[in-house]
Amino acid sequence: MKEHNFKDFVLLLEQLEKESGRIAMREILARFLKECSDLEIEAVVYLTLGKVAPDYKEIILGVSNALCLKVLARVAGYSERTIKARFNEVGDIGELAHQVLKPRDTPPVTINWVFEQIIKLSKDTKIEYKLDVMAATLVKLQPIEAKYYFRILLEQLRVGVQEPTVLEALTLAKLGSLDELDQVRRAYHLCGDVGYVAKVLYSKGLSAIKEFKVSCGLPIVPMLAKPLKSSEELFEKTEGQLVVEYKYDGLRVQAHICDSDHIELFSRNLGRYTEQFPDLVEYLRESVQVFPCILEGEIIAYDFETDEILPFQLLVRRRGRKYDIEEMSKEIPVALMVFDILLYQSKELIDLPFEERRAILLKALKPHPHVKIINSEKVTNVEQIEIIFQKAIQDGTEGLIGKHIKSRYVPGKRGIGWFKLKRDYQSHLADTIDCVVIGAYHGTGRRAGSYGSLLCAIKSADGVYRTVCKLGSGITDEMVDTLPQMLEPLKLNKPPKNVNVSSEMEPDIWFEPKIVLEVEAAEITLSPIHTAAFGKIHPNVGLALRFPRLKRFRDDKSPEDITTEDELIELYRQQPQQKVVRSADIQALMFSGRKRTVRKKERKVADEKQKTLDSFF
Ligand code: AMP
Repeated sequence: MKEHNFKDFVLLLEQLEKESGRIAMREILARFLKECSDLEIEAVVYLTLGKVAPDYKEIILGVSNALCLKVLARVAGYSERTIKARFNEVGDIGELAHQVLKPRDTPPVTINWVFEQIIKLSKDTKIEYKLDVMAATLVKLQPIEAKYYFRILLEQLRVGVQEPTVLEALTLAKLGSLDELDQVRRAYHLCGDVGYVAKVLYSKGLSAIKEFKVSCGLPIVPMLAKPLKSSEELFEKTEGQLVVEYKYDGLRVQAHICDSDHIELFSRNLGRYTEQFPDLVEYLRESVQVFPCILEGEIIAYDFETDEILPFQLLVRRRGRKYDIEEMSKEIPVALMVFDILLYQSKELIDLPFEERRAILLKALKPHPHVKIINSEKVTNVEQIEIIFQKAIQDGTEGLIGKHIKSRYVPGKRGIGWFKLKRDYQSHLADTIDCVVIGAYHGTGRRAGSYGSLLCAIKSADGVYRTVCKLGSGITDEMVDTLPQMLEPLKLNKPPKNVNVSSEMEPDIWFEPKIVLEVEAAEITLSPIHTAAFGKIHPNVGLALRFPRLKRFRDDKSPEDITTEDELIELYRQQPQQKVVRSADIQALMFSGRKRTVRKKERKVADEKQKTLDSFF
């Protein structure tokens, strides 16, 4: 099979960019992947996702806007000043490159060649080196190719394709139908690397995909818990065969102890925590003596003198830190509360029932003050759950996780055997909502010069971000100061792809959906202005969060992990005593003509209407 030129790939990206339906994107991608060889499939898959490797491989290209503008000026033959001025007008380096570069009379380059040139950038941190590599690449690219080259370098590809779509397209392309999709997904869940899965599928076929195993050093996509409203429901869902455990409020970690010199810590999001928590690596070295072993647990900040769990806000000061790590580990000591074991002495454990994994876990760990096994209490009735739940709250945890004792560990799945019961005093909601920021409104008063509120969205099954609240509450003064800087790289001059926002909610500034926030709310109400679950509960209305309040930034989660539309609908239905709202009442609140441009006044009216609608509940 002939290798594809980068130009062919760019045409694919252009096609994908124009398409917004997930299924249509999958078909377009599958058609292209069908023509790819096993030698290029890895590069194609990563580049379609706008990456060069999975995040946990930490391949850092170290390319900034400034560097791109410098190289563009050099290759296009303009002064840096001119290029910067043009950039300020255009606002997108890819687009600018397309405009200022001239068509070239050079032989076409392949996808693999461009991929290798991009990877080369990670080999040296010197600016001069990067400039030379980029310039040498750019002189071989046509203007349209340069557009996407820069977007990839700056992680701004934004064609809207995510891992689930790639897995489906790969399956369709190589196996002709989606019948074996679960096998391909499983392989991905066991290594967190879609490029590698693609390579194995293409070079060795389905039989090799079926042989994927848990492997020390490769993160497993974590199993998740489904929110429930009551102890009764928990008892029912687990058929009365359950244990309950405290739900610690910390950072989930998967610890891979491959041998005493090779220990890796992975985040919930398949990133790496290893360098950020060297103290924890050391504690694990001391407490685990049989390798290889994969443990899962929650890192919490802990005061060993008073024997108290410290607030999550302290713990997050350790995350993402590159400097002063040693001092920080003394200032904010941590403990790992281990709740599962997935591999022990090379034996894969995920398909064993929970109670058997637990028995192995109890044997695997040497007692250590910083590495503790979570208490797991077998219960036989609802009253026992209630008592432990109250105690969990008194002890400062978030609530309980209930686990069916026969449940297997199912990577990447929510609600198969694991359930959560959370404390939410004033709320009717069983859980907080994870949403992504897609826009912001200018602030006034104390927030002048920054953002007053953020437009937040959840995600529907077809991959569209739909708004669920305008969030102002819970944003501290400190955050008000840092928000503009934090959101600056994500600014867009038009709505991001795949969003559905009503004209009344159009923000002053749009952002690429990247920052995930955990939001608490009093309840979920019907909404005439938000687009989440639009038309799914009542015609012409969506769902919105009532009294939303920022709980925290979730940089351990990606937009892939946010609350889905179906989950939101389920939470809405779980709420106690939903009042019946006459559809006439809702109609009366609806806007008639929906205009594209919105004035502040209209927005105020929209807010008022939402409040009025809230008062029905
Ligand atoms: P969620 O991530 O929303 O599915 O909620 C489950 C989260 O609770 C996990 O990702 C863990 O980070 C955290 N957690 C805290 N304690 C436990 C526990 N005992 N078992 C499982 N997860 C726990």
